[in-house]
Amino acid sequence: MNTTVAQPLLTDAAELIAIEDRFGAQNYHPLDVVIERGSGAWVYDVEGRRYLDMLAAYSAVNQGHCHPAILQAMVEQAQKITLTSRAFRNDQLPMLLRELSELTGYEMALLMNSGAEAVETALKMARKWGETVKGIAPDRADIIVCDQNFHGRTISIVGFSSEAQYKRGFGPFPGGFRSVPFGDVEALRAAITPETCAFLVEPIQGEAGVVMPPDGYLREVESLCRQHDVLLIVDEIQAGLGRTGKLFAHQYDDVRPDVVILGKALSGGFYPVSAVISSQEILGVFQPGDHGSTFGGNPLACAVARAALRVISDEELPERSAKLGAYALHRLRNMRSASIRAVRGRGLWLAVELDRPARGLCERLQKRGVLCKETHDTIIRIAPPLVIEEDDLAWGLDQIEAVL
Ligand SMILES: *Cc1c(COP(=O)(O)O)cnc(C)c1O
Repeated sequence: MNTTVAQPLLTDAAELIAIEDRFGAQNYHPLDVVIERGSGAWVYDVEGRRYLDMLAAYSAVNQGHCHPAILQAMVEQAQKITLTSRAFRNDQLPMLLRELSELTGYEMALLMNSGAEAVETALKMARKWGETVKGIAPDRADIIVCDQNFHGRTISIVGFSSEAQYKRGFGPFPGGFRSVPFGDVEALRAAITPETCAFLVEPIQGEAGVVMPPDGYLREVESLCRQHDVLLIVDEIQAGLGRTGKLFAHQYDDVRPDVVILGKALSGGFYPVSAVISSQEILGVFQPGDHGSTFGGNPLACAVARAALRVISDEELPERSAKLGAYALHRLRNMRSASIRAVRGRGLWLAVELDRPARGLCERLQKRGVLCKETHDTIIRIAPPLVIEEDDLAWGLDQIEAVL
């Protein structure tokens, strides 16, 4: 029987779940909610039930589900040209590059697709900068990362993860990476050698459970990196583009990283688009043929990203995140529950750490119409689309309070 793929209107959730589990690799443990459509902060399952999305696809839909302006840009571009490959030029890439520069103040960008690809791109760029600009001997440039980091799932990236499951069974891994505790400037100082080309860090560690470094950490890191001619690479894939209440989370420390990595909300969830943004001196190390991607910088991706960035500015999403985030943090901090061990966050990027596994709680929230996902077993992350209405957020927090 090959009828399963030919039934796009199958609406029985249990059957769809069974098909997915039968025909798909099980590299995730999703909540059993089968989503069919969404709008703003709300999604609807195949049986017509409505849920408030408190995860926003790990901050890829900061602009809300199916934002009409991004949708329009995508449809219009898809009717014109979608992919040229960079063997040829297209009329969208230059516009996106200039708009990114105007928005961020960085001179240049290199477009990729997934976040992990942009991280890989930044690592390759840093190594080549280390050799050709800093003068590190060939094949010696090393990169320092942080314990509990999350930068994606490629072999080299999981190779420097401290999460055993991310690595188990996937070795051997490339060398040239060393890890220091997050938030510890002295550990970084001790780890830097003349062969260090870069320090890669998340401004707030999202997957680790919205872990915030001590105040001023990035500022001290920046001056240390400057002093030793080490590139400061900040992974803003999840933290950036408004999530924390500023355009970039590193702006809270008033620093200017040498390299910023973007992904997720760069497309508002429509399409994978990522970017490495930096200076002419650093991105200039790439020569024709050094690096590439068939889909990177394609016109459909660029049209979508341009619209996604416009929504962030036009709808003042960083300001919205700061305001709603302060309200949500206040509400969470005032919840009376013996099982809460800690509440933290910045903007609409919050975490509640429990004294027990959070999965059951997420399942109970699902029954009440709120979608949350646990991270590291005992932590619930709260990160709705930044367009969420204040009343909806209040209602979602009511449900969390009831379940706690
Ligand atoms: C999600 C994420 C990545 C990886 O992005 P993908 O698009 O899943 O490859 C990298 N870094 C951070 C901080 C992320 O949150």
